[in-house]
Amino acid sequence: MSIGAVEAARTILTSLHEVMASRSNAQSKLNTVVEVIGECLDSEVCSIYLLREGMLELFATRGLAQEAVHVTRMAVGEGLVGSIADRIETLNLAEAAAHPDFMYRPETGEDKFHSFAGVPIVRRERAVGALCVQHVEPRRYEEVEIEALQTVAMVLSELIVNADLIDEEDARALSAAQTGPEQLRGLTLVKGLASGVAVYHQPRVTIEHIVAEDTEAERQRVILAFDRMREQIDRMANQAEFGVGGEHEEVLETYRMFAYDEGWTRRINEAIDSGLTAEAAIERVQQRTRMRMRQIDDPLLADRMHDLEDLANRLLRIVSGQLGTAASMGLRNDAILIARNLGPAELLEYDKRRLKGVILEEGSLTSHVVIVARAMGIPVLGRVRGLRGVVREGDPLLLDADQGTTMVRPSAGIVEAFDARFARSRERQAVYAGMRDVQATTRDGTRINVMINAGLRDDVANLITTGADGIGLFRTEFQFLVSATLPQREKQTRLYRDVMDAAGDRPVVFRTVDIGGDKTLPYLRHDDGEGEENPAMGWRALRVALERDALLKVQARALLEAAGGRPLNVMFPMVAEPWEFDAAKAVFDGQLAYLRRQKKQLPEAIRYGVMLEVPSLAEQLDLLAPKIQFLSIGTNDLTQFLFAADRSNPKLAERYDWLSPAILRFVRRVVRTLDGTGVDISVCGEMGGRRLEALALLGIGIRRLSITPAAVGPIKELVGKIDVAEAAAAMDGWLAAPPADLRAEMSAWAAARDISVD
Ligand code: PEP
Ligand code: MG
Repeated sequence: MSIGAVEAARTILTSLHEVMASRSNAQSKLNTVVEVIGECLDSEVCSIYLLREGMLELFATRGLAQEAVHVTRMAVGEGLVGSIADRIETLNLAEAAAHPDFMYRPETGEDKFHSFAGVPIVRRERAVGALCVQHVEPRRYEEVEIEALQTVAMVLSELIVNADLIDEEDARALSAAQTGPEQLRGLTLVKGLASGVAVYHQPRVTIEHIVAEDTEAERQRVILAFDRMREQIDRMANQAEFGVGGEHEEVLETYRMFAYDEGWTRRINEAIDSGLTAEAAIERVQQRTRMRMRQIDDPLLADRMHDLEDLANRLLRIVSGQLGTAASMGLRNDAILIARNLGPAELLEYDKRRLKGVILEEGSLTSHVVIVARAMGIPVLGRVRGLRGVVREGDPLLLDADQGTTMVRPSAGIVEAFDARFARSRERQAVYAGMRDVQATTRDGTRINVMINAGLRDDVANLITTGADGIGLFRTEFQFLVSATLPQREKQTRLYRDVMDAAGDRPVVFRTVDIGGDKTLPYLRHDDGEGEENPAMGWRALRVALERDALLKVQARALLEAAGGRPLNVMFPMVAEPWEFDAAKAVFDGQLAYLRRQKKQLPEAIRYGVMLEVPSLAEQLDLLAPKIQFLSIGTNDLTQFLFAADRSNPKLAERYDWLSPAILRFVRRVVRTLDGTGVDISVCGEMGGRRLEALALLGIGIRRLSITPAAVGPIKELVGKIDVAEAAAAMDGWLAAPPADLRAEMSAWAAARDISVD
């Protein structure tokens, strides 16, 4: 904003402040407003149009015929005023009548005016009206004048909302219709369909006050907010754990660049000088940038624009103290969450009955947030480019994570077609649900153990609804993730006991805490307080547990006590070398001895096992085998370590395929090494819950799967169609001489046998 604009806006704002504080009614306030603006900008005409019943109505004017007030009405998109509201853009014309959208309205008497400038009045990113000036003399308005108008339009949005001059629902519905449907594509992270309304994980801040009482105080608020924001960004950079789940350095660098950008700070300060509050000034500058950027059609720049939006929103949240996420704000019951990315703990804060779907700009198949969503039965679409540019808070959405698309602001016809698909999908689910009491047995009579992965108390109910054979992986760290402080022993014991009670005769494998990687806990950090460069390969899982052995002792006691009088299955995560198993088991032995001395009831039997997810362990399995009763292959981590590809890095999300000879040969080797040792082998990574992958695993000798509950029905159905001898022969052939595209080859093989693998 130039000095002239600052002054013009300031003069107008000071007068408007008085008008708004006055006790007159809304109409007479608007009448005064057009006079004040007209006078300050030396404009012959100043008019305000507001949205009423879906039409833009002339509410007040200086210079046009007064008889036209509340008579002249235009549809959005109609005439100059309609086009300003429709496109949410500014018009600045020397000759109004020469513009293709111009429509002459005789009742206004506007034929003598040539020049025209108009700006939208925006509320929550939607146009609710327009503010226009006109002159007899044909000339383009100066930038200064336009900027002053834009600032005034912001103030007007406050006035008209406070005075109930517009119906916000009306504006919302209209803007949905205005913008029209749009389809976005992404990567299916959790299959499923959902219909609902867009809710931003970090909602845009609602600005309550626009005109400042005390400019100096506002300036101080912005300085403090900038300081805090920069601190936050610097901290993120240093901790390298920014935006849990794969925010990359490039983004962080851009954030930093914007956070320290002097031009941005200066423009905000100028807006404050013109009389706006800190919040309004940030928003005002952002609006202006948005308008400018809209004219540039460059996807790279659009991405950067989102970064700046993110940052401006962060600044707004800090300055206004509106720090919560949508989870803490009373979620509507058909919410589809929109975010750049989420951490698992953040997702767990949401009420899962109300949350129908999640759409992310980033995300990858095995990031923990996706695993949590899968366990919650919530469809997730990830890697959706331009998501936050297209979807606005409150937009109706149809999420089709099966097909990897989402429809934004769908038309009635699309909704109908979607509903039909939704109904078919529910029918399919009903078929799967009908398989609850069917045991998974292959065509040639091999019994396959199909168990579920779980982590929360409520998940256990899935055992009953799916008819699974047990819980093959209970991720105990989920309890830690949902808790604000380290869960006490009694609380842990209660959870484990409840889970075993609910599971009845079916086995539950409790995995000791796997904290670290993308599952960070604010209350449990590395001693030196430093973040890690590479947390997935860092201080995590058993490595934490063995160093902070109090943590493992407490958990061991809790598990042993909870299992008093019945069998207990304990599994250690991230074992890289046999001694780590020995050390962890020793902690359990110590606690067992203690409980024995205390004459407490002990577990009837304890089975110990490890996760095989660090490749190094495969080289020493012969040494470990005699000590363990079972082993579960964690393909999520195994894949990332085998390929050296971070599981939560969105850039790598689509690069490596589970159906690769490397993984399948690796797993087959483990199966062969343990053959005859009596050690039970299972696969508990996400891979096992996908039909084609499960087929491959059966073909290389896996007989136990622990998978996400929603996959139990589909996998049981698949198992019934497979002849393992035939699958094994085919896999042996493929792994001996791998085809270029094993996935395609296997799909064709399955299709030829009428085995559906989608
Ligand atoms: C795995 O790594 O495959 C696994 C099942 O464990 P998590 O996803 O919890 O790391
Ligand atoms: Mg793992």
